[in-house]
Amino acid sequence: MKIIFVSSEAAPFARTGGLGDVVGSLPKGLEKLGHKVSVFMPLYGRIRRDGFKLSPTGGRPSVSVDNRLVTGIVHTAQLPDTNIPVYFIEKNEYYEREELYIDPSTGKDYIDNCARFSFFSRAVLETIKSMGIRPDVIHCNDWQSAMVPTYLKSLYKDDDYFKNTLTVLTIHNVGYQGLFPKEDFRFTGMDAGYYNWKQMEYYGKINLLKAGIVFSDIITTVSKKYSEEIQTEEFGAGLSGVLKERGRDLYGIINGIDYSVWNPETDKLIPFKYGPNNPEKKKQCKNHLQKKVGLAGREDVPLIGMIGRLAAQKGIDLLVECWDKLMKLDVQLVLLGAGDKEYQEVLKSLANKYSGKVSVSIGFDNQLSHEIEAGSDMFLMPSRYEPCGLNQLYSLKYGTVPVVRKTGGLADTITPSVGFLFESYSSEEMLKAVQKALEAYKDKARWSKLMRAGMAQDWSWDKSAKMYAELYQDARKGIRR
Ligand code: ADP
Repeated sequence: MKIIFVSSEAAPFARTGGLGDVVGSLPKGLEKLGHKVSVFMPLYGRIRRDGFKLSPTGGRPSVSVDNRLVTGIVHTAQLPDTNIPVYFIEKNEYYEREELYIDPSTGKDYIDNCARFSFFSRAVLETIKSMGIRPDVIHCNDWQSAMVPTYLKSLYKDDDYFKNTLTVLTIHNVGYQGLFPKEDFRFTGMDAGYYNWKQMEYYGKINLLKAGIVFSDIITTVSKKYSEEIQTEEFGAGLSGVLKERGRDLYGIINGIDYSVWNPETDKLIPFKYGPNNPEKKKQCKNHLQKKVGLAGREDVPLIGMIGRLAAQKGIDLLVECWDKLMKLDVQLVLLGAGDKEYQEVLKSLANKYSGKVSVSIGFDNQLSHEIEAGSDMFLMPSRYEPCGLNQLYSLKYGTVPVVRKTGGLADTITPSVGFLFESYSSEEMLKAVQKALEAYKDKARWSKLMRAGMAQDWSWDKSAKMYAELYQDARKGIRR
């Protein structure tokens, strides 16, 4: 099949979280199965600043945005270690900025995000047409590309070019919906008739994710459990009704991970390589990490790692709530994250109280994230909700035992044979799970068994890419499961 991914992120070019990791690696899994895959994303300024070399394709998609003709420029580069072309839509007015979505000067979304990503979605469709690729599948991701299926079922509905194209929308996190004031509707280029509660309107605003859910042929999300959760009021973030209505076309497929990037035996970003056959070197990674982030260089103390966006979703409030109790235990904590300013400040000040025992690094730091995976003994993810979660899967491979809340993808991937789980969203429960892990850590044989069991698991894309391919195939034949 000819499969096109449309996404606002793809590793290694630009990523702010799991979406980028997935779009940078699932296409490789599909290519391995013999499919012809390509990826489309915006050309953010940082991609060139980070030294990626691109070449122009000659493509110049033009789109009318609020009665103004806006023209992009298409560039291309290869997804590393593959034959997969990535096409970048350049439009400096929209993407030549410091960040992807959030204006660092205000801490809020860029005010023209509706125009930025509506333009992107249409420019992608125009580019696909001009290149003569007749895709069997266009696989979109999150609200930023949710306008692609919406356009195909509206502006392009009589266009024969796409008549055999299946649209798939993957929801990586239903908490982010692309909500905009109704005045922005003009930037979408859609007929005003679509601004109604069954389609694009949502309590007086425009909701791009909702539009994508309504108009996509197939909707997927990134774990089975989360696909069920989001159809309930508690987890649906206001879209449970629309999701339930599309329930027969909604599937959950667990994410895989890219072992060419996340493998302690070959990881170029960690100081000592190790694996299930020579796990001793993990201790040297721990020592290196302790030195790097200013923790006491003790081998015996269990070191807990945490990496993630500092957002309410990630359970940071649980950590803050039981901070002093946690600090009374003989542990060390290394945390890396960026996000809500309030969390950043609270965590920094709490860390100062316990220097040598805790390290908090604020920012997005890929190098340090690999060092934390390798150097920590356990990995804490107390998420309020978690669509899939990737760090617990990286942790398994790195022999870093996960301690997680039993929700979404965490519930689908972590069992007591490889980690520790707690059920209710409370700091006491979290602390209990950490204490259980600390107890187990004291028993060297038990701990080594846990580490080895995790390291032996296979969370590569092989299985999940096959599930996507089968889903595309069935859906194209009109088969529902
Ligand atoms: P989400 O997509 O909700 O942010 P995931 O667990 O699915 O969470 O994926 C997060 C990805 O982003 C992981 O690869 C993680 O290592 C990475 N990441 C998150 N925050 C940071 C950070 N501050 N520095 C480096 N990498 C980060």
